[in-house]
Amino acid sequence: MVLSASLHHPGSLNEHPAPQFDPDLVRRYAGAGPRYTSYPTALQFTKAFDAGQLKTFAQSSNEELLPRDLSLYVHIPFCATLCFYCACNKIVTRNARTAADYLERLHREVALYGGLFDDDRELTQLHLGGGTPTFLETAQIRDLLDCIGEHFPVTDDVSRDYSIEIDPRTVSEETLDRLREIGFNRVSMGVQDFDPVVQKAVHREQSCEKTLSLVRHARTQGFGSTNVDLIYGLPLQTASSFTATLDRLLEVSPDRLSIFHYAHLPHLFFPQRRILESQLPSSEEKLNILGAAIERLAEAGYIHIGMDHFARPDDPLVSAFHDGTLHRNFQGYSTHAECDLIGLGVSAISHIGDSYSQNTKLLSEYQDGIDAGEFPIDRGLALSRDDKIRQSVIERLMCAGEVDLDEVSAEHRPVPEDYFRDDLERLQTLLRDDLITFPSARIIRVTAKGRFLLRNICMIFDRYIEPTADIPRHSRVI
Ligand code: SF4
Repeated sequence: MVLSASLHHPGSLNEHPAPQFDPDLVRRYAGAGPRYTSYPTALQFTKAFDAGQLKTFAQSSNEELLPRDLSLYVHIPFCATLCFYCACNKIVTRNARTAADYLERLHREVALYGGLFDDDRELTQLHLGGGTPTFLETAQIRDLLDCIGEHFPVTDDVSRDYSIEIDPRTVSEETLDRLREIGFNRVSMGVQDFDPVVQKAVHREQSCEKTLSLVRHARTQGFGSTNVDLIYGLPLQTASSFTATLDRLLEVSPDRLSIFHYAHLPHLFFPQRRILESQLPSSEEKLNILGAAIERLAEAGYIHIGMDHFARPDDPLVSAFHDGTLHRNFQGYSTHAECDLIGLGVSAISHIGDSYSQNTKLLSEYQDGIDAGEFPIDRGLALSRDDKIRQSVIERLMCAGEVDLDEVSAEHRPVPEDYFRDDLERLQTLLRDDLITFPSARIIRVTAKGRFLLRNICMIFDRYIEPTADIPRHSRVI
C-alpha cells in the first residue's frame, strides 16, 4: 500500500519527457501542498484509531494470499546540536543516558511488533532516520540491528535496502566501515549548503572536504548508493552560492540528490525563530536558485525522478522510474515492491494494510506506553473506500507521471463511470496551463512542465483539500 506505480508500466525512457522548469508556472502554482508520501496525509489521522485496530490490520495482512514483505523505519530523535531550520521531531541533548533509556524501549517495541507478523514476511527494507541515528554509538546500532534480526526475518538478498542517515560532521570513515559491516548498504547525508556564511546563519557548520571524502569512502566500501540532502531557501543563499555548493558535490557524483524547499514556519517550528527573516532569499531569488540547480543537475546528467528527487542514470531508482516499478513511501521514492511499513520510535508512522498509525511524538508518553506493554500509538486512520481509490490515483501520478482511470476503476470495482467527474472538471485549468495532457479521455499524463508541479496535480484528487475553482491564485508563491 505504499505509493507506487506497480499496476501501470509506462514503458520506455522516451515516454518520460525531460522535465521543463517554467518559472512563471512555478511562481503561480508552487506553494503549500502535501508531498504525498502518503494519502491521506498525516493531517487526517485521528485519535479514534487504536492498538486493537492495528492488530486487526496486521492479522489481515498476514492472511492475504501473497503477504507483503516488510519495511521497518526506526526513528532516533537525538541530536547533539540544533540546526535552526529544523522541522523534524528531535531532542537536542548530549546526555548519552537519555539515548540508552530510549534504546531499551525501542528493543521492546521491536519485540511487540515482531509478534504481530508471520515469520515468512521478509524484511526487505530498513531505514534508521532522525534526528541523528549516528548520535548512537556504533555498538548500540549493532545491538539494535541484532534485536531486529531476532524478531524479523532479515534478508541477505543483494536487493535489500538497509539505509541509515549519517551526520557528516561527526561520523568518521571508520564509523562508516563499521556501519557497512553491521549490514547497511545505503547511506544518506544531510548537507543543506556548503557556503560557510549560510552554514553560520543556520547553525550547522560542516566541512565540505570531509563530506566529499565520506561520499567517496562510502562508494569504495560498497555502499550501493549515497543520497545527499540539500535545502534551498535558507538565509543568505543566492543562485550562485547554491550552484557553487552543487558544483562541489558534483565532484563526487552522489548517486541520489534531494533538493528540499525550506518552509519558514516559525510559529510551528520553534528553532526557526532564530533565523533572521531579513536574510531569507526573496521568492524570486528562490526561483532563480531552483532553476539554476535544475539546470546544473541536468547538465551533469542527473535524472529528475519526481518531486525533489534526482538520481544518476545508473542508479536503480532511475531504472524503476523508467520501467514503471517506482514506489513511494514515507522516506520518499523506493525501488521496493509494496511493503507493509512498520514505524518504531517517537512520532514514527506505520502503514499496515489499509491503515496508518502514528506513535506519540512525546518521549515521556512513548516510554510510559512501552513500559505498560502497549503499542505507543497516538493516532491513525483506517482508510475508507474513497481513500483507497484516490490513493491509487495519486500514487500513479507521483511515481509514473500518468494514471489510467479505467485501470483504477478495475482495481477497485465497481467504481461508477462518473466517479471522477468533478476532478476531471477541475483538471481543465491544469490542462490549459500545459501541466497535463489527456492521451485518451481516461488517461491523465503529466507533461514536461508538470513534472515540477506534481503535488498540484495530485491535490486535485485529494478530497481533504477544499476544491477551489482557481488553485493557482490561491496557492502560495514559493
Ligand atoms: S536538521 Fe537534522 S541534525 Fe539538525 S537538528 Fe534537525 S534533526 Fe537534528
